[in-house]
Amino acid sequence: MSTIAAISTGNTASGIGVIRISGEKAVEIAEKVFISADGTPLSSLKGYTAKFGRVCADGTAFDNAVALVFRAPRSYTGENVVELSVHGGIFIVEKTLQAVLDAGAAPAQAGEFTKRAFLNGKLDLTQAESVAELISAQGEESARASYNLLQGSLSSKISQVLELLLDRSADMAAWVDYPDEEIPELSEENLIGALEQCLESLNALLDNYESGLVMTQGIDTAIVGKPNAGKSTLMNLLSGSEKSIVTHIEGTTRDIVEGSVRLGDLVLHLSDTAGIRKSDDIVEAIGIKKAEQRLERAALVLAVFDSSLPLSADDEMLIAQCSGKRCVAVVNKTDLELKLDLDKIKNSFENIVYISAKNGDGAEELEGIIKRLFGAENFDSTAPLLANQRQKACVKNAVAHLTQALDGARAGITFDAVNVMIDSAIDELLTLTGKKATEEVVNNIFSRFCVGK
Ligand code: GDP
Repeated sequence: MSTIAAISTGNTASGIGVIRISGEKAVEIAEKVFISADGTPLSSLKGYTAKFGRVCADGTAFDNAVALVFRAPRSYTGENVVELSVHGGIFIVEKTLQAVLDAGAAPAQAGEFTKRAFLNGKLDLTQAESVAELISAQGEESARASYNLLQGSLSSKISQVLELLLDRSADMAAWVDYPDEEIPELSEENLIGALEQCLESLNALLDNYESGLVMTQGIDTAIVGKPNAGKSTLMNLLSGSEKSIVTHIEGTTRDIVEGSVRLGDLVLHLSDTAGIRKSDDIVEAIGIKKAEQRLERAALVLAVFDSSLPLSADDEMLIAQCSGKRCVAVVNKTDLELKLDLDKIKNSFENIVYISAKNGDGAEELEGIIKRLFGAENFDSTAPLLANQRQKACVKNAVAHLTQALDGARAGITFDAVNVMIDSAIDELLTLTGKKATEEVVNNIFSRFCVGK
């Protein structure tokens, strides 16, 4: 396999920049661009050793640098690795990479370092995917969950289930091949017990998926309400910046303003929309149409009401539109005198929060309610967690096969028929961890990484 190199730090000027080289010839190639201050050649260094020195191109030094040597298999990729830390100016970092490429390394593809780590058995697919999640983590919970995944919490859960299934499957295969032998572990109760246990573990993973998704991916949220209810002010409060224009003239928020904000541990992907109401103004009507579509798509709706005004026809329309959606009624402007018919709101919404978007009161209550709504308030980021749709699909398919197997076992079908279903479940779980994933699946996963990872 070729020796590859890429810039592993971000594409902005920073204190230091790191160029990572991985492959059989990593040390040899690094030696051509790096000269240590005390004259020690890199090739004489043991793994986990750093040297201070200079990087050069065409025999001319252009920056001070530190070279860190890792020896196979004790490195991120499992190969020989050298990391060159230089000053993090974009020019210097690019120049160092170019020197390394000129010295014989090939440019790394997106995710290639992590892909090699996977191919060398340093991590399984669920862990590799967690690396991507960790890089894009936007909040504390999400980073913690991804880190646990990287530590292998999901892999070990899946391994437990797999072990049990493989044991039972082996017993049944033996029974099919040697029907006269006594196989003590193999009884219907034992089989049913094992299947139930596996299903319980896998179903727990699926149950945890949505709250996990909420914590790691954020919630698609639409803020809706009649003009002047305070949608833009609420959005500004949440995003802490002036994203949408707050004015007194009704219907000014004509288009959808979007942005991701952090609300405590949660990330909300917000869109503040034109007020939902009837309008003869064409431009505004387009905005309203978009708002309605947004409302349809959103996983969470924040329906904003102005508590300083009596309930209007627009409010009534909004209440009707919210039915059946995961919705929080946000009763705004609590700093003003109450004129809104609260009973009507209470009768229409299960979740109500009272805020003053202008003063910032009530944001914490809103966070609490949203977490509760998404089952995220008890979210345990130390529990194993499925990180994405691919992983979820594998577990879901495995559950389907095992449920069939369990039904079959209970109905007394033969062991070899049950075993076929168990084998299908095993296949799904091996795909999940990558032991049996097709090249296409693997390539697809790593192509979503950034270069240098
Ligand atoms: P939108 O049309 O729903 O986006 O409403 P805006 O956010 O533009 O707010 C309309 C007006 O209400 C603005 O003058 C805001 O300053 C005011 N406003 C928003 N929230 C509050 C609040 O909590 N208290 C008071 N007193 N005024 C508010």
